[in-house]
Amino acid sequence: MKRIGILTSGGDSPGMNAAIRSATRVAISRGVEMFGIMRGYQGMIEGDFVPLDRRAVAGIIGRGGTILKTARSKEFMKPAGRARAHEKVRGAGLEGLVVIGGDGSFRGAYKLSSEFDIPVIGVPGSIDNDSVGTDSTIGFDTAVNIALEAIDRIRDTASSHDRVFFIEVMGRSSGFIALHSGLCGGAEAILIPEVRGELNELAALLKENRRQGKLCNIVVVAEGEESGGAFTIANMIKTLTGLDFRVTILGHIQRGGIPTAADRLLATRLGAAAAEALLDGKRNVMAGVSGNDIVLTPFEQIWDCRKEPDLGLLRLAKLLS
Ligand code: ADP
Repeated sequence: MKRIGILTSGGDSPGMNAAIRSATRVAISRGVEMFGIMRGYQGMIEGDFVPLDRRAVAGIIGRGGTILKTARSKEFMKPAGRARAHEKVRGAGLEGLVVIGGDGSFRGAYKLSSEFDIPVIGVPGSIDNDSVGTDSTIGFDTAVNIALEAIDRIRDTASSHDRVFFIEVMGRSSGFIALHSGLCGGAEAILIPEVRGELNELAALLKENRRQGKLCNIVVVAEGEESGGAFTIANMIKTLTGLDFRVTILGHIQRGGIPTAADRLLATRLGAAAAEALLDGKRNVMAGVSGNDIVLTPFEQIWDCRKEPDLGLLRLAKLLS
């Protein structure tokens, strides 16, 4: 291979830039030209490509977001859109692609690769940590730390006013951010989409806590399919308990900002592994970490299974609350 392309797609996550930097520099070190594809698959369809040399990726390892920008492309979901994208890729002489994104982006990559015989390697970039094939996705650790800082701050107020606070964190249909930030923040309760129907139990816990004189309670809620669900839950708990409450929705602050050391390390390793894999002739796999090892998982296996959080951690959080 002489020339390859790299893009970020779907939701942005802190650490994507570190992955772009390392994939680019590894490719260059192997004598291969790297091109950045702007705005994900939409930029691919439009042929919006920029050459990336070593200096183009200088100073970005600690920057959140993505210098390549990201987008969602409806056009790419259709065969005609992918055909246009492939035309542009072929026209620019790109012989392989590194795609940094989530499951949706990998589905798109797999289709492009199957239809046009172009090798693609995936890198899991998502704060949600919902990709199988890796212990952690790039951005998850940063998001957990941001949520944790917010929980710590809110606890001061919850404690001063003896209040129940519901704190909604991101994660879409996955409860990883809620579970990890809630456990580390000493939350009295954690509600995640993977475990349903616990409202009566939560109401009983809050009433018992009040009976014992524990008035400050933090309940961390995963957003689920739609942001704002914490208000509904809190209102139901109010009906069941009569307790007053406050709700804080953390929202997109969890997606931005400086990536943690853990995310920079993960992104740097996975970006490098993806470039190496592509240049070693691998295709249609995602680079991830398992323990301390880099592992390559075929795309088809990634969306076949759902990544489940460790429910042992939830039990531990309950025990310790
Ligand atoms: P993520 O990669 O974070 O899961 P999305 O699900 O929004 O984000 O996917 C990002 C982009 O990948 C979509 O806008 C679309 O262009 C492409 N994509 C997603 N799913 C498919 C699919 N089934 N077929 C083709 N392209 C897809």
